[in-house]
Amino acid sequence: MNKPAVPCSICKRPLTDPVSIALGIGPVCRITKKQKAAKMKQSENLFGSGVDYSFDITGNVLHIKDNNGAVSVTNAIDRVLTEIWESGVDIRAHNVIYRDSDGIWDGVHFVAMLHPATENIQERREVKGIRFYAITEKDLALAIEKAREAKNEK
Ligand SMILES: [Zn+2]
Repeated sequence: MNKPAVPCSICKRPLTDPVSIALGIGPVCRITKKQKAAKMKQSENLFGSGVDYSFDITGNVLHIKDNNGAVSVTNAIDRVLTEIWESGVDIRAHNVIYRDSDGIWDGVHFVAMLHPATENIQERREVKGIRFYAITEKDLALAIEKAREAKNEK
């Protein structure tokens, strides 16, 4: 006898991977939720602090951990990427993944723009066009493996 399939809590399609089954939501619906959360903050813009993260690099993969501050990395991903870029890591040369507040690794595609300095305006880095994609792994090594193969469609 097969076990009955666990359905996604949103779209009701059967879940297949163990992480999605544990969360009760499939990768497509999870990423849609993240995308909405990332958009919402743009109209709110109410944080000046509160996002707490750390990051490291393995090969061509930049991995960012959400340390569960008041503002989630999902909500502030463009700002987090800009900060990391300004700290000296060329984010354009890496595939980026991040561990969300549920402890799940997913990927981020983005557009990174460097506006050169002009006479009156300082050099400026800008990250936009954020698009999350599902990695759906709890294990960093597995997430890095998946991210290595991901093409950064910019
Ligand atoms: Zn679903």
